[in-house]
Amino acid sequence: MSTNEEWFSRAQRVIPGGVDSPVRSFRSVGGIPYTVVSGSGAYVTDVEGTTYVDYVQSYGASLLGHAHPAVVERLREAVTRGTTFGAPTPGEVLLAEIMTSRVPGLEQVRLVSSGTEAVMSAVRVARGTTGRDKVLKFDGCYHGHSDALLVAGGSGVAQLGLPGSAGVTAHAVADTIVAPYNVVPQLDDTVAAVLVEPVAANMNMVAPRADFLHQLRDECDRVGALLIFDEVITGFRLDYAGAEQFFGVTPDLYCFGKVIGGGLPVGAFGGSLEVLSVLAPAGPVYQAGTLSGNPLATAAGAEVLSRVTPTDYADLSARVARFATQLSEAVRSSGLFARVPVRGPLLGLYLSREEFDEPENFVQAQTLCENGLYGPFFHAMLDQGIALAPGAYEILFVSLAHSDDDLARTVDAAAAAARVALRAHFAS
Ligand SMILES: *Cc1c(COP(=O)(O)O)cnc(C)c1O
Repeated sequence: MSTNEEWFSRAQRVIPGGVDSPVRSFRSVGGIPYTVVSGSGAYVTDVEGTTYVDYVQSYGASLLGHAHPAVVERLREAVTRGTTFGAPTPGEVLLAEIMTSRVPGLEQVRLVSSGTEAVMSAVRVARGTTGRDKVLKFDGCYHGHSDALLVAGGSGVAQLGLPGSAGVTAHAVADTIVAPYNVVPQLDDTVAAVLVEPVAANMNMVAPRADFLHQLRDECDRVGALLIFDEVITGFRLDYAGAEQFFGVTPDLYCFGKVIGGGLPVGAFGGSLEVLSVLAPAGPVYQAGTLSGNPLATAAGAEVLSRVTPTDYADLSARVARFATQLSEAVRSSGLFARVPVRGPLLGLYLSREEFDEPENFVQAQTLCENGLYGPFFHAMLDQGIALAPGAYEILFVSLAHSDDDLARTVDAAAAAARVALRAHFAS
């Protein structure tokens, strides 16, 4: 029998901070992380044998839940045929066909191995196409950890209380402009692209105002800048076809990741034939990857995408809307105030001791995320077998495997956890 403590101390000896991605370290909520040995559907089980209802779901990579039997079978089949070749494979064509058939403005996609790579490559395409240098991003939106985009990045960066990252030169971010989310910036003709999370899901959750994305589209058109939707979270999760369909706004470039790999490392960027014609080998913008279009990742991704229907998204959204209301009421019944913003099946969670409005930008989200309530709330949930993300800047991921019973248990636990958080607040 081994313990989470033993594994984490072994990890800390051989892996910096004991983790391969900072948020997993529990640094912002305190305590030591549970080390997962297996997952099944809505649940994960740690090395001590404790099973949790899991709302991390690999930060959104898992849509069907963990180890879905059909995905496992598809992977079993794929692995026996070889795992990487450095040559074209049918699997990458199949995944690209599914994606382009679903997203209206997506005519072609190129597959990569992470969301970071997808965004980095899309920005390069935008610069290559327009011949311009500047990229505008919004405060609190996360676009992976490439140098130029690692400013005001929300999520893990915000959790560690860092404005950006050491090791990124002023030069590397000199062409990055940061603007507040939900305010349409005034652009000029030095701007190659505007990068946006259509629903911001790395500063807890901040939904776009009614006309924000439409007006952003108009402003990009006015100056000839490309609009890039970073759909690494929203793609094939917000909706059957992601944010374009959900909001009725068509970007010039799309970035995907998470869901489209069915739990394996993947990313993709795409757009119209015209925009992508600058990419090598046809055009002058270079981009490549040894494991890009990996047969295992494309098999898992294609299996997930081909299993879900528009009805699944509608049903999940309706269930999540009810869950959000119940969660909010449960917290309020315990003397705290809560806001649970919802878009489709995505939901955030803000706690406060005072009544407050739903945040519309990073500054507002940050005030709430830093009020000290999330840490004790998180631990009280974990003690009751409910695993939320170990950081206030993350959202909750409800998979298709979460049952009504799982959600009801979570609501009950939240009422108790809110009481604990309130007491902890008065004690401190
Ligand atoms: C997770 C995420 C990324 C980065 O993807 P990785 O696969 O972690 O490199 C980029 N953009 C958004 C919106 C994300 O949520």
